[in-house]
Amino acid sequence: MAPMKLEIVTAERLVYSEDVDVLVAPGIEGELGILPRHAPLLTVLQPGEIRVSKDGKETYMTVSGGFIEVMSNTVTILADTAERVEDIDAERAEAAFKRAQERISSAVSEMDLQRAMASLKRSQARIGVVTRRRRQQRGERPTQQPPTQ
Ligand code: ATP
Repeated sequence: MAPMKLEIVTAERLVYSEDVDVLVAPGIEGELGILPRHAPLLTVLQPGEIRVSKDGKETYMTVSGGFIEVMSNTVTILADTAERVEDIDAERAEAAFKRAQERISSAVSEMDLQRAMASLKRSQARIGVVTRRRRQQRGERPTQQPPTQ
């Protein structure tokens, strides 16, 4: 099947722009699997992992939320933040994860809690794709994706 165009952009930069064969993205209601010639779609993304398959090779990225639009065989992700796996600082993500856990246990308001939970999800996604990539580099089979909600 002919590929589709995927563009991932944030307010600051173009993160990814390639022709791809398969895209899996964290839709607000669960994982979205998109193949070429998908029907038009506009929906919200939650923090999570993006998986792209191109010429039989899988690539991982993260997104912290935003919108996904599918139109005329082109997928556009307008992300709050997005990173390719090679740009993720794993130590920073681990530190953010621990910080978020502490903030969750000491949250004094619903807003505090929501913010800490969102931070936890962002850091989990970043840690998740780094772990997946390390496994891929070791030649291990990919494990089942954890549920996104
Ligand atoms: P958190 O709220 O999870 O502690 P943060 O506030 O440091 O993280 P974000 O608000 O999620 O970061 O993102 C701010 C910017 O930093 C974005 O451009 C994002 O791509 C980048 N960023 C955040 N964490 C990482 C990371 N672990 N590695 C690389 N870039 C990151």
